[in-house]
Amino acid sequence: MNLFDLNARVAVVTGGNAGIGLGIAKGLAAAGAAVVIAGRRPERNLEAARAVAAFKVSTAALEVDVSNEASCRAMVENTVGRFGRLDILVNNAGTTVRKQPETYTLAEWNKVIDTNLNGAFLCAHAAYPHMKNGGGGKIINIGSMMSIFGASYAAAYAASKGGIVQMTKALACAWAKDNIQVNAILPGWIDTPLTQSALREVPGLNERVLARTPAGRWGEPKDLAGVAVFLASGASGFVTGAAIPVDGGYSSQV
Ligand code: NDP
Repeated sequence: MNLFDLNARVAVVTGGNAGIGLGIAKGLAAAGAAVVIAGRRPERNLEAARAVAAFKVSTAALEVDVSNEASCRAMVENTVGRFGRLDILVNNAGTTVRKQPETYTLAEWNKVIDTNLNGAFLCAHAAYPHMKNGGGGKIINIGSMMSIFGASYAAAYAASKGGIVQMTKALACAWAKDNIQVNAILPGWIDTPLTQSALREVPGLNERVLARTPAGRWGEPKDLAGVAVFLASGASGFVTGAAIPVDGGYSSQV
C-alpha cells in the first residue's frame, strides 16, 4: 500500500494558476489526483491546467473569485458536477496590500481579509457537505510566516494569516467526526510573482531573507509539494489542526 497515493482523488487548488498553488497542484497530480485549477484569470487557469495534465491526470480550469460567496459555491458545485466528488481542497488564493497601517483604507483592508481569510472559509463551507457525504476529506489552508510574526507593512495580511491558523484549528475540531482533516501550511519566503513584487517594494528584503533563513536560500513552489501530498493523503489520517512551517528553518531562528 502506498500511503501517499492520490489516485481516484479529486482536488481543487484555489490560486492554482501561479506560484505556490501551481507547485502544489503539480505535486498532487504527480501523486495521481485529478486537479481543478481555480483562479480569476481564465487564460492562466488553462495554461496551468495544461501543465498539470502532463502528469497524465484529469484536470479542469475554473474561473473563481474567492472573495465572492456565489463564485466559491459555483466552483465547488462545478467540480462535483464534472468529477462526481471532491476530496481535497487547497485554500491557496491570496493577496496583499503593502503599506503602513495608518494609510490603509477600509476597502484595502477588506480586500485582503475577504480574499485570504473569508475566501478560505467560504470554499471550506461549500466543500464540507460533499466531503462529508463522500466519507471524508482533506482541507489544506495556506498560512504564512505572518501567521506567526508581524511586519509593519502587512497588518491586513498578518491578520488574515493569523486567522487562517485559528480557523484551521476550529474547523479541524468541528469536522474530525466526519473524517475531514483540516491543516495549514506556513510557507517561508518562496520565489513567486507575489514575492517578486515584495522585492521591488521592500528595501533590503532579499538580504534579510537570505541572512535569516538557515537553508540559505529562497524556497521554490515545488518545495511545498511534498507536505501538500502528505496532508492530502492517507498518510496524514490522524493529523488535524496542525500548522506546518515549510520555511528552510526561518521560524526556528532568532
Ligand atoms: P501569487 O501572487 O504568485 O499567486 C496568487 C494566486 O492567487 C494566483 O493564482 C491568483 O490567480 C490567485 N488569486 C488571488 N486573488 C484571488 C481571488 N480573489 N480569487 C481567486 N484566486 C485569486 O502568490 P503566491 O504563490 O506567492 O502565494 C500563494 C499563497 O501562498 C497565498 O495565500 C500567499 O499568501 C501564500 N504565501 C506566499 C508566500 C511566498 O513567499 N510567496 C509565503 C507565505 C505564504 P488570479 O490572479 O488569476 O486570480
